[in-house]
Amino acid sequence: MDKRVMLITGGSRGIGAATARLAAARGYAVAVNYVHNRQAADNLIASIRADGGKAIAVQADVAVESDVVRMFVEVDQHLGTLTALVNNAGILERQARVDELDAARLARIFATNVTGCFICAREAVRRMSTRHGGSGGVIVNLSSIAARLGAPAEYVDYAASKGAVDTMTIGLAKEVAAEGVRVNGVRPGVIYTEIHASGGEPGRVDRVKDAVPMKRGGEAEEVAQAILWLLSDEASYVTGTFVDVTGGR
Ligand code: NAP
Repeated sequence: MDKRVMLITGGSRGIGAATARLAAARGYAVAVNYVHNRQAADNLIASIRADGGKAIAVQADVAVESDVVRMFVEVDQHLGTLTALVNNAGILERQARVDELDAARLARIFATNVTGCFICAREAVRRMSTRHGGSGGVIVNLSSIAARLGAPAEYVDYAASKGAVDTMTIGLAKEVAAEGVRVNGVRPGVIYTEIHASGGEPGRVDRVKDAVPMKRGGEAEEVAQAILWLLSDEASYVTGTFVDVTGGR
């Protein structure tokens, strides 16, 4: 089997960490990006290595272009040619209505969730696309079901940023489809991770789970399975589309 090298942004916790673990178990060499929580990244790397996998941790703020450029060079140097990018880093802020938002908050949300996703995709395409001398690859963007539902009275700004991610997924997929690169999105519903605490409501999943047709929140591992499928050759004719992991919402 060819060597498979994955970079996952925001890979130190939550959905990203579950994806990094599953990818390593399936034979990927994994670069785990984080921004602040070095301890979480180091613990994950240690546990992947203890299980016989290959992984490195790379600090970078995806909202900062020079950080992203440096991160990709580090991956080149330590793991070799990138074959998979998972654009997973994403943030939301305290629940608020649109009539309470300000431009500084919008700038923070869009810098991480949208600009970060674009710049990481750019660096990946420069390495993967046959147009640039690459041998192909796969990109998976983490969107959210909020892109469809709008997240009223919680975070319409976050939902709109994920709408932008969806549009980018469709456009980029078509741009590079004939260059050996597939691009797809995964849209989770409510998943048990720490992201809800940053919205000010750590117990949010349990509050809203009855609105989910399956009547439960999702686990990070269930999202990771969908991501790994899209990255795999089993999805070889799948590009420019989305897998919703929502319990039917
Ligand atoms: P999480 O538990 O809050 O973890 C966020 C991860 O992103 C951490 O590893 C964090 O690093 C990293 N990160 C944050 N800002 C970053 C930046 N500027 N640069 C690099 N890394 C950064 O999040 P999650 O719930 O697993 O969510 C993962 C993705 O799924 C996000 O895109 C989110 O929008 C999406 N999603 C989640 C849910 C859900 O219910 N959980 C639902 C729909 C969509 P540190 O550890 O260093 O802070």
